[in-house]
Amino acid sequence: MKGLIFSVKRYSIHDGPGIRVTFFMKGCPLNCMWCHNPEGISYLPETVMQTNRVGDREFSKNEEVGKYYTVNSILEILRKEEVFMNQSKGGVTFSGGEPMLQFEFLLDALKACKENGYHTAVDTSGYSSTENYKSIIPFTDLFLFDIKHLDEARHIEFTGVSNIGILDNYRLLLESGKDIVVRIPIIPGFNDHIDHLEKLKHFLIATKTGSLKKINLLPFHKIGTSKYKKFNIPYRMGNTEPPDKEKMQKLKEFFLETGVKVKIGG
Ligand code: SF4
Repeated sequence: MKGLIFSVKRYSIHDGPGIRVTFFMKGCPLNCMWCHNPEGISYLPETVMQTNRVGDREFSKNEEVGKYYTVNSILEILRKEEVFMNQSKGGVTFSGGEPMLQFEFLLDALKACKENGYHTAVDTSGYSSTENYKSIIPFTDLFLFDIKHLDEARHIEFTGVSNIGILDNYRLLLESGKDIVVRIPIIPGFNDHIDHLEKLKHFLIATKTGSLKKINLLPFHKIGTSKYKKFNIPYRMGNTEPPDKEKMQKLKEFFLETGVKVKIGG
């Protein structure tokens, strides 16, 4: 079995503890308006035109996005980084896209990583079947779990899918005993209204178990905007500007009232 991966990031320090290798798996069932990784949405390999400018001259070449990896090839990559991973108490993270979309491969890869003693993390939107989450729990040390909006209609409007199953899966993982970091993207005009933030804070408090270790607040940014042009996907965030530092600091203090550590960024 092979998994389709669009990027392998070595020396990653934002996707779980220590120094990690993060595999970005291709394909996502959501279609978030602000997605920073549009190259991860299609579940097929893609060829796009990469244009580089040197002085006044432009050079274009085809770029393949998405490559198939076996579990053994993943282990080979991890072996080469083992020294850094071990010294820093790091490990391996499967991100995306949505890694649960390639569930069979993800399960095999997680099992193999655990057999080799690696700390494993799965960065997920929460959108997959409860059965699938139950299957990976024994082989996953940490879940990086996105909560985008509590209102179902708003969630559908901005991501294309309901949040009902996502929140059910979140509750399931809270009872798993595995570590969870909740990731909240702060998207101006979508989920940053004080009424919603109050509801979200109370939801996190009401559902809290010992599994919830941290909250990451991920400010909207425009860094991936140029990718939209490259992938011929319309950019839908218009002139939306990132929240400023002061606002993010206030939100950090606000979410500290959950009694959980809060960090701005991944
Ligand atoms: S869940 Fe993540 S990868 Fe998928 S569309 Fe939303 S932001 Fe992009």
